Amino acid sequence: MSARAFDVAVVGGGTAGITAALAARHEGARVVLVERASRLGGECAFFGCVPSKALVETARFAHDLRRAVEAGILAELPPLDFRSICARRARIVEEIAHDERDERCTSVGIEVFHAAARFTGPYELDAGGRLIQADRFVVALGTKPFVPPLPGLDSVPYMTNETLFSLEHLPRRLLILGAGPTGLELAQAFRRFGSEVAVVERLPEILQSEEPEAAAAALRALGRDGVELHLGVEVTAAERRGDDVVLRWDGGEASGDALLVATGRLAATGGLGLERAGVELDRGFVRVDARLRTSAEHVYAAGDVTGGLLFTHVAAHEGRVAGVNAAGGKAEIDERAVPSVVYLDPEIARIGVTEAEARQRLSGVEVATWPMSKVDRARIDERTDGFVKLVTARRRLLGRLGGGVLVGAQIVGPHAGELVHEAALAIQGRAFAGRLAQTIHAYPSASMALQQAAAQLFPLGRALAEREL
Ligand SMILES: Cc1cc2nc3c(=O)[nH]c(=O)nc-3n(C[C@H](O)[C@H](O)[C@H](O)COP(=O)(O)OP(=O)(O)OC[C@H]3O[C@@H](n4cnc5c(N)ncnc54)[C@H](O)[C@@H]3O)c2cc1C
Repeated sequence: MSARAFDVAVVGGGTAGITAALAARHEGARVVLVERASRLGGECAFFGCVPSKALVETARFAHDLRRAVEAGILAELPPLDFRSICARRARIVEEIAHDERDERCTSVGIEVFHAAARFTGPYELDAGGRLIQADRFVVALGTKPFVPPLPGLDSVPYMTNETLFSLEHLPRRLLILGAGPTGLELAQAFRRFGSEVAVVERLPEILQSEEPEAAAAALRALGRDGVELHLGVEVTAAERRGDDVVLRWDGGEASGDALLVATGRLAATGGLGLERAGVELDRGFVRVDARLRTSAEHVYAAGDVTGGLLFTHVAAHEGRVAGVNAAGGKAEIDERAVPSVVYLDPEIARIGVTEAEARQRLSGVEVATWPMSKVDRARIDERTDGFVKLVTARRRLLGRLGGGVLVGAQIVGPHAGELVHEAALAIQGRAFAGRLAQTIHAYPSASMALQQAAAQLFPLGRALAEREL
């Protein structure tokens, strides 16, 4: 045991940091966790996944009420109360954040300090005047919103994910700069609450990392809901006009009484003094290897701060690996099968490679697609916009036996964010696609869509489907 007070000091008490601290403690290390905010939980709990998905789900209630009116089940749409919508969001955030309170860590012997930390030397941190010495460190600082250097933007009121969730009144006309997953999810949610919503985006297409059919389904859904999209426009200025905020571009403009900037993320490493610990950065993000070691051998990094896949589930996976390794273990990250979900309605979920990526990199590629309009669960629910697309490839030595090995899946439709995990398990386990087709799925479940898609890789499956046509 070294003379330093701690074996492992973790900086940042979001998902990655909390998980790293718990994992290191589980390995027997003396651990301290330093978080600058007054509560543990980080972005996901307070400014990211949890409040945004609480709004998305409440917006689905609102949409279902409209569907009930259309179906003649309700005579008229009851008025929506935005204050109750916010109260529900706040309650859910509190309930989930409660699981990440200090006691979860202190009860297992982790010391928790709330102060902004900065390195004063390779093995020493200053946390609000208190010096913390440790043999190894885990840096889990997350990211901050990127706000583009747009002329006029600093003189108009705007929100980011750090302020949006304190809104007290429903904007009448919400303007959103940025059509990434965050911008689109919130656009659909606020539209369903009753705001007019316009989204402005520099790129000509949305959701470019998804299969093109999935992006097209998202466009259809947003169009049906009445979200106004301005794609492929380079905003040149922002200005205030009366109570409105206006975004201008060559040949056009859009305005609203509230503006949300959702244009991506920046590394949040400034201020920690990582150079004093000998840690190299790459455009602000911390460079790591498969064991999450940085360029300084006693410093590990995990989560968004590494600039990899910016998801909570990845932050948790990396936190576990970094925590175990900082405590003396030899774990490696395994990010072969990382699901991603865009929580639109219909949900858009993907894992592994797209068809185009597979055709570029792999051999013996085949694709099977099955529309939700042929899935009885989706038909019963009358939510048939969507599909399952499975991408398979030749498996080394075994070729296309068993329909080939599953290398990618795109699912669009209700519960896609749940269904994708069956494909995740198959990819992680290097399973033949035939296993999905062989496995008996309950009728009428949404999961049958995967079985039916996989069956298309086999003559019998195709023949049975022909009969259905
Ligand atoms: C609107 C929105 C919606 C999202 N939705 C999803 C989703 O549905 N699913 C999903 O998987 N991901 C989602 N994400 C991404 C997800 O929130 C992040 O990937 C995740 O929170 C990253 O966790 P982390 O621990 O790496 O960083 P963070 O949670 O950001 O934690 C970093 C912590 O470090 C602290 N810190 C920083 N500097 C210091 C310092 N010097 N000293 C002490 N403490 C410091 C910060 O205060 C913070 O608490 C969303 C993000 C946004 C913005």
